[in-house]
Amino acid sequence: MLISGQNITASSLLKAIVVASLPALVVLATLTLINALDFAYFICGYLAVAALCGLYVLPLLSNMTSLTRYVSDLAHDKRTRAPDLRFLSNFAALSDAFARLQRTWDRQKQEMETVITEREILVDTLPDILIMTNQDTIIVRTNRAARAIFGQNLAGRRLLEIIPSPKLKQAVAIVLEDFRGQQVEFFLDEPINRDFQAIIERFPIPSEGGISLVITLNDITEQKRIQRMRADFVANASHEIRTPLASIIGFVETLRGPAKDDPKARDEFLKVMAEQAERMSKLVNDLLSLSKIEMNAHNTPTGKVDMARMVRAEKQHFEWALKQKNVTVRMKAADNLPFVRGDESELAQVVRNLLSNAIKYTNSDSEVTMSLRLVSDLPADPSMRNLSRAMLFSVKDQGEGIPKEHLPRLTERFYRVDSARTRKVGGTGLGLAIVKHVLARHHGVLTIDSEVGKGSVFNVYLPLYEEEG
Ligand code: ADP
Repeated sequence: MLISGQNITASSLLKAIVVASLPALVVLATLTLINALDFAYFICGYLAVAALCGLYVLPLLSNMTSLTRYVSDLAHDKRTRAPDLRFLSNFAALSDAFARLQRTWDRQKQEMETVITEREILVDTLPDILIMTNQDTIIVRTNRAARAIFGQNLAGRRLLEIIPSPKLKQAVAIVLEDFRGQQVEFFLDEPINRDFQAIIERFPIPSEGGISLVITLNDITEQKRIQRMRADFVANASHEIRTPLASIIGFVETLRGPAKDDPKARDEFLKVMAEQAERMSKLVNDLLSLSKIEMNAHNTPTGKVDMARMVRAEKQHFEWALKQKNVTVRMKAADNLPFVRGDESELAQVVRNLLSNAIKYTNSDSEVTMSLRLVSDLPADPSMRNLSRAMLFSVKDQGEGIPKEHLPRLTERFYRVDSARTRKVGGTGLGLAIVKHVLARHHGVLTIDSEVGKGSVFNVYLPLYEEEG
């Protein structure tokens, strides 16, 4: 039975009263035994003492129960309020000690919560993906980057179910078996197409939360792409140089041997060798230009360029090629066009490469048109976003045109629509790659319109000198 509101049982109250009244009971019993006190007085006396003890013991027991509950709550890490110890607070030292205990507990709890919150924020804001699993590779904890890619409810799922990579599986098995941290790279096609580098480590201390493995995934897609591009580039460049070189070596051997005394063959071979040497030299020059532009990729040029004057000057260099194919170049430019912001020699290279292509690929006896004008209808490209106007330089030819499927890849290094034909007209396959890189550095844009059988238009949009301040 509970004494109402106090959480005290009748038996515990009774026990406490008996204990508290025990000395009085002994005295009264002794007096009764030596006949100094009547038995009826013994009974009345003891009941009076027991009642008085009850009045004293009840609030004491009630305070002790509250105190027990309070200490138990603290032990179970439950936030609680200091109990109302009205009876015990008569003992000043005890109530002071409780007030201090409560303050210390509150402060430490607060500190611990702050540390935990800070750690969670830290883990969450890490850009790398972090996944922690138990001994059975069941996910225990993840960070925000992991959840953003693999979904929200990861806890409780198997690591290899969300990342089904045989390489990761093998590395995890090694770490679980002989505690050696592992590093592996793998490609994932689900849920996203990315290359990852995973670092798998054992959790260094026994963990209450059951964490056994810590797996960090680093997205290395871009690194891999650059590696592949570099390898492709070296292979392509070597191939491009090896072809004319092999041809020159072949001719040299023929000239030293079978054609030694044949002046006609010698003249012909020397002509081809000169062409091949010229091709190699063009290739090396283009490669050097490309690497120079790439080295400066992050410095926006600040010069003032008069495009109309520069384009006219560049046109002069093609007189001979124009005569050979009987091609006319027309130039349309408004008067008093504003300056563009840029590096004149690099922009001249853009004009030269586009004009040279137009002449190379236009039909004989046709016309190439270059035009320069100010436009406010700009392509939807991030570099044009803040501009209201730009200079548009376009080159239009009357050649065979380019099938649509080739257009997105045209500015890749060594990409050619028709390799045999391009080599015949002396292309290196780097001209448009150079144009793209120069424009990127100038915050310019290249667009290509082409129709098979009709010809192509290459449009270059450049920011004006004054627009960019
Ligand atoms: P190349 O030195 O081989 O001309 P580019 O990078 O300048 O290299 O051009 C890449 C490819 O784009 C060319 O090989 C050619 O197939 C195609 N191309 C470029 N300009 C034109 C054009 N005006 N008309 C048709 N095809 C073109």
